[in-house]
Amino acid sequence: LKLVAFERDGHPGIGVCEADGTIRPYRIGAEVVDGIQPVIDAALEGRALTLSGDVLSLSAVRLRAPMPRPRRNIFCVGKNYREHAREFARSGFDSSAAPSDMDLPEAPIVFSKVPECVVGPYDPIVIHPATSAAIDYEAELCVIIGRQGRGISATEALRHVWGYTIVNDVTARDLQGRHKQWLIGKSQDSFCPMGPMAVTADELTLDDTTVRCWVNGELRQDANTRDLLFDIPTLVATISAGITLYPGDLIATGTPAGVGIGFRPPRYLGAGDRVRIEIGGIGVIENPVIERSAGDAAA
Ligand code: MG
Repeated sequence: LKLVAFERDGHPGIGVCEADGTIRPYRIGAEVVDGIQPVIDAALEGRALTLSGDVLSLSAVRLRAPMPRPRRNIFCVGKNYREHAREFARSGFDSSAAPSDMDLPEAPIVFSKVPECVVGPYDPIVIHPATSAAIDYEAELCVIIGRQGRGISATEALRHVWGYTIVNDVTARDLQGRHKQWLIGKSQDSFCPMGPMAVTADELTLDDTTVRCWVNGELRQDANTRDLLFDIPTLVATISAGITLYPGDLIATGTPAGVGIGFRPPRYLGAGDRVRIEIGGIGVIENPVIERSAGDAAA
């Protein structure tokens, strides 16, 4: 099942995305501001939402993030691909380790992004040069939790996973370094493009899913989820050991090598750039980068 959250004529909706590219909307009320959360909640109760009977073309709607305002912070995982851990250590921006520390993490590094930084799959990434001069992209597979649990074992973990989506874990590297803790550098407004759809767990082959990212058409990241240092069951087990996971919680699983700080000199994002991320079985998000000066009103 592939689900989308969308806006049509100013009204939010959610629906099933069919193989032919059409959308079959659910009949649903005000709760649709939660994106696909009502579908996850209904499944838990053994219900299925009712389809409206309409058929929409994808071009007739504006896609929103499937979880446009997660109920709490997005869990994120740092340095979860071997080659990326090395490029990050070499970059000097790794405030979690001394610059000479080339060791791979011995346990998952977990941080978070605030829910309000989520934007849609084609929405702009807004940069403020007065706040940060080092904006980077991070293509990531994102887990959507479907079933509440605490102390979930790795062997049981996938039973708690509803499905997956794509996120760009956009990062202000200078803020990430300066403030030591990563929250500020990871949570700037618009720093979590998400989408274009949420797919149920059965749509993905976890040990063979491609993760690719292009900037202005140039392939920068090209990896496979089989190369995750800590796999998804391990991440779910680690986080849930002492923190209850709830339906709709999100876990961004980390980015592979090829981010801007991996280059000499670093290749940061600037106004006019376009970041395209494709994950096999889910689709493509593509976000333009635009610049606002400090004086512009927050919009
Ligand atoms: Mg990341």
